[in-house]
Amino acid sequence: MKNNDLDWWLDLVPDAALVVGQDQMVVAANARADAMFGAPQGALRSRALEVLIPEASRQAHRQHVAGFFRQQTCRAMGSGLRLQGQRLDGQLRPMDIMLNRIQVANQELTMVVIRDDSERVAMVKLGDELAATTARLARAQEVGGLGWWEYDSDGQRLIWSPMVPAILGVPEEVEPSLALVAEQCHQDDRPHLRALHQNLMKAPGTCLTYRIRRPDGELRWIRETIDHGTGNRVLGVMRDITTEKTLEDRLRAESTIDDLTGLYNRKQFNRDLKSRYADYTRLNRNTSMIMYDFDHFKNINDCHGHLMGDNVLRQAAEIVAGQLRASDNAYRLGGEEFAIIIGNTGPGDARKLAERVRSSVEAARFRLGDSIVRATVSLGISQFRASDTNFEDIFRRADEAVYQSKSASRNTVRVVA
Ligand code: GH3
Ligand code: MG
Ligand code: MG
Repeated sequence: MKNNDLDWWLDLVPDAALVVGQDQMVVAANARADAMFGAPQGALRSRALEVLIPEASRQAHRQHVAGFFRQQTCRAMGSGLRLQGQRLDGQLRPMDIMLNRIQVANQELTMVVIRDDSERVAMVKLGDELAATTARLARAQEVGGLGWWEYDSDGQRLIWSPMVPAILGVPEEVEPSLALVAEQCHQDDRPHLRALHQNLMKAPGTCLTYRIRRPDGELRWIRETIDHGTGNRVLGVMRDITTEKTLEDRLRAESTIDDLTGLYNRKQFNRDLKSRYADYTRLNRNTSMIMYDFDHFKNINDCHGHLMGDNVLRQAAEIVAGQLRASDNAYRLGGEEFAIIIGNTGPGDARKLAERVRSSVEAARFRLGDSIVRATVSLGISQFRASDTNFEDIFRRADEAVYQSKSASRNTVRVVA
């Protein structure tokens, strides 16, 4: 090839291309190369090659080029190290190069075909970021005990994340299957889970809590939320809530407050009664207690529903709490049975308070939605006796007094002192 042919031939190359001599000067460059390096047309010719290389790597690059002239190999695109090129305005660009030895007018030259590598570098960076995010997400799912599955109703295909078999305690290779989840489900919860699985397409928006028994025998609590997946798919998010559930159960067991009414519960009642009995035996300080039970409460549930029943218990508890002095305490003993432990008073004061409780419940109108209900209670009063041997003796007498009220007429007060 002759020198004149070189320019004509370089212009045919569809990429940016340079021809470089052994002295590392640019012998020829096509218009695409000029544009790539931000040079005016023809401005690269006769420039030192190193102006296109960032300052920090010039020395190493010079040695590479000299080495290349000594050997007979060429370099293909995508092989060896990727390099940074430097535009004349100083901007750096990732570039990939192909090198070929050519002879022009008996001169040993190298033709350099250059491609902008920015897109590939950006893709690699994006890929790395995606991999890091995916890894972080997988770790977060692992730490949070969170698994997901997606059911495609068209292809009737199920996929699930590795955390689902981990939650179920089965090997990761197990074929995804909702039937397997149902099989592991606790038998009491299984009908609910099966019903959910049978109506998956209508399930988005629902949430189900159930127990599973893992193959190693361990019981786990799962909360599953169903949502719309992509396209015609249903997405299930499974969360292992065993730790929260255990904590919740412990807190409930340790709690001294009744959930429904906010009054003290039976546990606190026993504690307080024991302490009052100790005061009685040591200091001869007596205590009265009132016990009361709702009259015909089954009828309220049967005629107005359980929610109304709950509502009556809640509202009546508020009304009763409003009748107490600071030294009196109110308790829900269980179901629709309640008690009040009264401060340092005789049966006369207890009787007045019991009558106030009776009449205020009788006067109340319990409302839920459009329904209004009335209720009454039967009350019994007792106090400690010298013959008592146990803190529960007072309780037995109060119970007996309630029984007497029920037998008499209901909605009344009886004393078994
Ligand atoms: P009595 O006058 O003889 O006491 O009649 P009763 O219908 O109240 O009979 P009993 O005390 O034996 O029955 C209590 C009913 O209260 C039975 C139970 O279903 C209902 N109950 C117990 N606890 C609750 C509750 O927390 N909420 C509701 N809604 N109902 C309850
Ligand atoms: Mg009752
Ligand atoms: Mg009862």
